[in-house]
Parts: sequence; C-alpha cells; structure tokens
Amino acid sequence: MTKNVWQRIIFHCKEEFPLEACGLLSGKNGIAETIWPMENVNRSPISFSMDLDQIRRVFELIDKKHESLIGIYHSHPTAEAYPSLQDIEYNNYPEAGYLIVSLAKQTPIVKCFQMKANYVKQLSIKIVH
Ligand SMILES: [Zn+2]
Repeated sequence: MTKNVWQRIIFHCKEEFPLEACGLLSGKNGIAETIWPMENVNRSPISFSMDLDQIRRVFELIDKKHESLIGIYHSHPTAEAYPSLQDIEYNNYPEAGYLIVSLAKQTPIVKCFQMKANYVKQLSIKIVH
C-alpha cells in the first residue's frame, strides 16, 4: 500500500476510537492506493458491519477509477491485531487482504491476514512511495 493510505487508515481508526472503524482499500496491481472509510453501522467497540448501500456505491466508484478491491480494514480498539472468531466467520471478502489495526498499545499495530473459511495466515505489508 502507499504511505498515504497507511497513514489514513491509522488516522481513521483513531478518529473512531473507542468504536471500531472499518473501511475498504482499492488499487491496481496489488497495491492499495485508495482508502474508503466506511461507516460502522454497529457503532460498537467490539464489532463492525458495513452498510450494503454504501458498499454498493463505493464499489461503483472503485470501478470508475479502474481499480479493484485490494483489502478490507477494521480496528480493534482494545484487542490485539488478530482476527476474532466473528471476524473469521463473517469475512465476506476472502480474496482481499484482511487488515486489523490494534489501538490497544500506545503505538498502533497493523497486521494483514489472508482469511479463507477457517484458515488464517499472516501476510507482510509493503509500504511504497
Ligand atoms: Zn475484529
């Protein structure tokens, strides 16, 4: 992902604290270049879900930019940067990188996972320009 996207993910997660923040990332060639902060309709500190109409609108905009979905992110205001059982169960985008931002410590920790069914594997995150 770009440095700008990285910084804006963390900014959005801090802004929503103590609630969970969530959003989508799009780009080309596997590089996330655009961040789409989404509304957490649960307004909860321990869960998130996105509004289907907002998702539809954002996917149209991603198409218009000739980008594709690269990742999905959300924050864990007080928990570590690891998918919860609900995260694993309700992941609708198994092809996208699954980013979790933990705000449990002073310095935010961001980790990316590949999640399919019950399979969780940590991926490395590369920051470009
Ligand atoms: Zn979670």
